[in-house]
Amino acid sequence: MDATQPTIVEEKIVKYNGEVQVRKYQKGKFLGKGGFAKCYEFQNQETKAIQAAKVVEKASLTKSRAKQKLMSEIKIHRSVHHQHVVKFEHFFEDAENVYILLELCHNQSLNELLRRRKRLHELEVQCYALQIISALKYLHSHRIIHRDLKLGNLFLNDKMEIKLGDFGLATKLDFDGEKKRTICGTPNYIAPEVLEGKAGHSYEVDIWSLGVIIYTLIIGKPPFETSDVKTTYSKIRKNLYEFPQHVIISDGARDLITKILIGDPKMRPNLDEIIAHEFFNNGGTIPKTLPQSFLACPPSAQ
Ligand code: ADP
Repeated sequence: MDATQPTIVEEKIVKYNGEVQVRKYQKGKFLGKGGFAKCYEFQNQETKAIQAAKVVEKASLTKSRAKQKLMSEIKIHRSVHHQHVVKFEHFFEDAENVYILLELCHNQSLNELLRRRKRLHELEVQCYALQIISALKYLHSHRIIHRDLKLGNLFLNDKMEIKLGDFGLATKLDFDGEKKRTICGTPNYIAPEVLEGKAGHSYEVDIWSLGVIIYTLIIGKPPFETSDVKTTYSKIRKNLYEFPQHVIISDGARDLITKILIGDPKMRPNLDEIIAHEFFNNGGTIPKTLPQSFLACPPSAQ
């Protein structure tokens, strides 16, 4: 293969009359790698539109569980439409891969943001948290639990809007009281009832992860982080975390985090109660979005 030639991926579309149409995409910049996907910029050669493409090798889908997981991700993600959810554009396959085309988020995830910034000001956290809550309200009202809410799955687009992505662990309940039992999530963000498993879990697992996200953005480190997963899980089960002395945190933020990170899921506040909490209502105006300059340097003292 000629390395100077751009890689073109062809999508074959069979029309109702049997005619085959070919849509071409130019594979561009590598965006990142996840559990079983590699993500690249794809440019539609006809419209010139650039999207993010999640490329999953078919060879990695030999186990029926992996195939089912990808099918479930596609089914749930393509059914959701919200300002703060990564837009699902399209999917197709060729002999080697499955391609999921998504809205491109130019400004990476909150993970990279926090790595650069170390910790965020509470006003920024209020602004991001309200956008995450708005996405969660939408998902939960459609009986969808995301189950993998974490900084790495919260992207920022070029307008600095939060976009929740990666529906690989999401589930749709058949009815509101249904409980799920599969153990899933990412160690630092996983709710205690998921680890217990017995009684099942529901929407409250996303609320727990939201609490972990708010803590992490303000303090700079996840509350239950340790060097090994077993110890992290044990700390989550025992609800062992603290607010470090050296980080200044408002009473409102501390109170909200403490109310959310409660072992018993029934005792956690719901999304409306969270929005009504003092943390979001301390008299200041919370901006809808933040300037791009905040990606790299902290805003001047509030
Ligand atoms: P997996 O489901 O395999 O974990 P992810 O959905 O996490 O894959 O995607 C892998 C990486 O690709 C992400 O960490 C991120 O860097 C990048 N990425 C994913 N979706 C987008 C997007 N819509 N826009 C820009 N980059 C993305």
